[in-house]
Amino acid sequence: MGGVITVPEQVRTSFTGDLVGAGDPGYDQFRRVHNGLIDKRPELIARCLTVPDIVDAVKIGREQASEISVRGGGHGVAGLAVTDGGLMIDLALMKGIKVDPRKRTVWAQGGVTWNEFNRAAACHGLATTGGVVSTTGIAGLTLGGGEGWLMGKYGLTIDNLLAVEVVTAAGEVITASTEENPELFWALRGGGGNFGIATSFEYQAHPVPTVYGGPGFSQRFGG
Ligand SMILES: Cc1cc2nc3c(=O)[nH]c(=O)nc-3n(C[C@H](O)[C@H](O)[C@H](O)COP(=O)(O)OP(=O)(O)OC[C@H]3O[C@@H](n4cnc5c(N)ncnc54)[C@H](O)[C@@H]3O)c2cc1C
Repeated sequence: MGGVITVPEQVRTSFTGDLVGAGDPGYDQFRRVHNGLIDKRPELIARCLTVPDIVDAVKIGREQASEISVRGGGHGVAGLAVTDGGLMIDLALMKGIKVDPRKRTVWAQGGVTWNEFNRAAACHGLATTGGVVSTTGIAGLTLGGGEGWLMGKYGLTIDNLLAVEVVTAAGEVITASTEENPELFWALRGGGGNFGIATSFEYQAHPVPTVYGGPGFSQRFGG
């Protein structure tokens, strides 16, 4: 268990997301993850809205918290997205998605779920390999490799990953891709959440028509 985390006044005024402690409204909702057996109580939940929020949270966590956990979609069965007594960095508010139909790429932030990703990409007839359960987060799934409907044709999620923006343990914001920090990029593709906080991901997408299949049902992205 950790001790008290004190948020410096300057961070409290500039933080654009929410800083939630035990007793604050929403605390029990925000510490909950998909696996209902997990019941951990962070000292502080930093619900980040921007990359500078994440940088501030990492600095506070490094100086004061016994442990830092990172929550993307909260679907990890082991419940590593939440910590007992430490600082939980929650990306659930970071929902930015940009589709570039010309390059067939999709950029999405660390709090996006596959449902949100697929809806945005499908507006342009595009998709990439992603989770089969729509409420799973893109972050944890991608960092773990990523299997899904389209993998037979397009490979794992990480085979379609072009770049990741990362906040390091030192609080630096860097990009990992085949051109920039290629060793970090290699590690992120399957290494889980051990190499920094992934703030956003850029993926190669592919044209996908509506596919009808199976006994008596139809589904988009299926087949
Ligand atoms: C119902 C269900 C269906 C699933 N279906 C699939 C599937 O179809 N294909 C598949 O490949 N996997 C699937 N999974 C497994 C899933 O990919 C992993 O559990 C994944 O870790 C979930 O990601 P998340 O962001 O939702 O989870 P979280 O619990 O938020 O995170 C999981 C881990 O990743 C770390 N993490 C999360 N976000 C970040 C970040 N931005 N930066 C750094 N570290 C981070 C967390 O700290 C934690 O250690 C499924 C899981 C469930 C429960």
